[in-house]
Amino acid sequence: MKYCGNCRSLCEDDVCSFCGAKKLKDAEDDDFCLLFECERGEGEVLKSFLDEEGIPCVLMPSGNGLRTVLGLNLENYKVFVPYRFYDKASEIVDSISNDSTEQYRERLLEQIGLWHFKNESSEKKFRKKFDLEKGADPLAYVKEEVEQAFLITDEGIIYACPERGHFLSVKSERGNILFNSATYEIVG
Ligand SMILES: [Zn+2]
Repeated sequence: MKYCGNCRSLCEDDVCSFCGAKKLKDAEDDDFCLLFECERGEGEVLKSFLDEEGIPCVLMPSGNGLRTVLGLNLENYKVFVPYRFYDKASEIVDSISNDSTEQYRERLLEQIGLWHFKNESSEKKFRKKFDLEKGADPLAYVKEEVEQAFLITDEGIIYACPERGHFLSVKSERGNILFNSATYEIVG
């Protein structure tokens, strides 16, 4: 695994997929690596889990310029752990995520004003995929799905997203809707 000293990300390739830095070095045990970016409260919960397991971690506030411009007070935390603990810490993140359908549901519904499609054609695709009637409001459909979903999970980072959003997968009996967790774009 390679390590980017610039943004402290782990990367598969020689070029950092997050910041574009080149000639990455091999990751070493003591390199602090970006594990996860999350909201403040989640960061503190995660830290308590990591502490229990004896995994050292560093939480760094990560403001977001665009959000500030939009007047949204959403300060995030970036959580870093040493490379030697990275896999174990990732498992902990996953296990917390699996328990948190209700938290995701609440968060999605709180941010309903930010839900959007990228453009008309992605909205069209969505209508077709879920077989919506003509004139039906797709966002109203999504809202029902979020309310009724039996499972909402974090499906990992969206590499193409500069905000480092994660895929939030909303699973209901009728299907599976994907959100970008940072921008609240309905991805599919
Ligand atoms: Zn980087």
